[in-house]
Amino acid sequence: MEKLIDLRSDTVTLPTQEMREAMYRAEVGDDVYGEDPTVKKLEEMAAEITGKEAAMFVTSGTQGNQVSIMTHTHPGDEIILEEKSHIFTYEVGGIGYLAGVQARTLPGKKGVMDPSEIEAAIREDDIHFPKTSLICVENTHNRAGGTVIPLDVLKRTYEIAQNHGIPVHMDGARIFNAATYLGVPVKEIAKYADSVMFCLSKGLCAPVGSIVAGSKEFIKRARKFRKMLGGGLRQAGILAAAGIVALEKMAGRLKEDHENARLLAEGLNAIPGIFIDMETVQTNIVICDISGLKINASEFAKRLFKKGIKINGGSGYLVRFVTHYGIEKDDILRTIKAVKEVAEEK
Ligand SMILES: *Cc1c(COP(=O)(O)O)cnc(C)c1O
Repeated sequence: MEKLIDLRSDTVTLPTQEMREAMYRAEVGDDVYGEDPTVKKLEEMAAEITGKEAAMFVTSGTQGNQVSIMTHTHPGDEIILEEKSHIFTYEVGGIGYLAGVQARTLPGKKGVMDPSEIEAAIREDDIHFPKTSLICVENTHNRAGGTVIPLDVLKRTYEIAQNHGIPVHMDGARIFNAATYLGVPVKEIAKYADSVMFCLSKGLCAPVGSIVAGSKEFIKRARKFRKMLGGGLRQAGILAAAGIVALEKMAGRLKEDHENARLLAEGLNAIPGIFIDMETVQTNIVICDISGLKINASEFAKRLFKKGIKINGGSGYLVRFVTHYGIEKDDILRTIKAVKEVAEEK
């Protein structure tokens, strides 16, 4: 049997042997009482890496984003975010239900909002208007294809926010991929946001968990919202132990995923009927327009699956491939070959 090549997402990564051993040995306590030494260690490491005063372990990226938004805003406020962002698209309308805020979406270019459009969208002080109380940025941008916000744009966005006294939250689910692409430490990116969320369970391979980082005062208030949402965990050090290994051992290898994504994109883009905007291939996500093949994404995914390659299908003509730990160069070459065969079947 040939190995199944799963390119649906970097969330399919499994914990490494070292993570399982660290989980087995983890020293734990009741984290709701603040007594889990392994959670504390992970949170201290995460604060250091992001250059923030404090950090908090959360169950998922979605919980981290929602708790952050609840902490920054009040019901009835408005938040500015990109129209294809994860928070707006894939978080079940949580900003309305949980935080009680409304969304002011702006179209991004490759996922990046224009700072002057952000400034223009900030509400004036008027009796009729909601208060703009938060700006959210996504880095890397998932639906745009893992694209990175240039540091100068991020800086400009943060300056505008500060001039208006509005905080910035960064959905940095894949901030380590952004840092790898830019060749800078994570804190050089996170310094342009008041709070940042990142995932341990994607390219970093931990089985569960994300981090929210920010000021001491922010994290103190965020802990109450985490508790409210059922995220007060007890012996969570079992999970945090894997997160520590993720930060120590897995962040440094993301370059391989990026090289594999580029190799894949170059191979696929050379196939007639497939189009890839190569400028969006910056990190570990490749988005292809397959409309030239005259089959839709779900049919394309079905045919690839018969050849041992798994991707997410959909009703349209865009398909996504995500590289991650466990995907080797040989798997990329096999994928290109399989897509070529599908393209020639018709
Ligand atoms: C995956 C992802 C999240 C949410 O993470 P979950 O752990 O799946 O809830 C948030 N933002 C972005 C950009 C993501 O890619």
